[in-house]
Amino acid sequence: MNQRGNAVEDRKEIRLRPHHGMCLAFFEGKGYSDGFTAHMAETLERLQKDPEIRLVLHTDEICGACPNNLKGTCISDEKVLRYDRAVLMAAGLSEGQKLSYQEFAGKVQKEIIGRGRREEICGDCEWDTICRRRGNENAI
Ligand code: SF4
Repeated sequence: MNQRGNAVEDRKEIRLRPHHGMCLAFFEGKGYSDGFTAHMAETLERLQKDPEIRLVLHTDEICGACPNNLKGTCISDEKVLRYDRAVLMAAGLSEGQKLSYQEFAGKVQKEIIGRGRREEICGDCEWDTICRRRGNENAI
């Protein structure tokens, strides 16, 4: 894509599942497949330019390249919806809300990670050991 195309792409609203705010905060280049990981890294780069995001309770930008996304539905939908709703409640956010990525990431950091509430929300996730280790490192 040319530079102009990238600029347009960067300004587009990005749909995000609320619990992905935590996945993004602790992302260290690991994921469900090489394609998924590359897409997650690209998405994080776009988000760091602080576009507007919309919080959704269904598959989002990150799910777009996930092998667990079966025709638009996560194979672990019940579990990830539980995470999404818990993040909305803990961070004082709501489904469909539009806000800047930095504002969203700041609320996740302050209201959930900073208060030590991450594990109560997604402590049964298969990636928990990474987030726990990175959380401990950041606390030192
Ligand atoms: S499809 Fe499911 S496992 Fe894959 S990124 Fe989305 S929520 Fe996570």
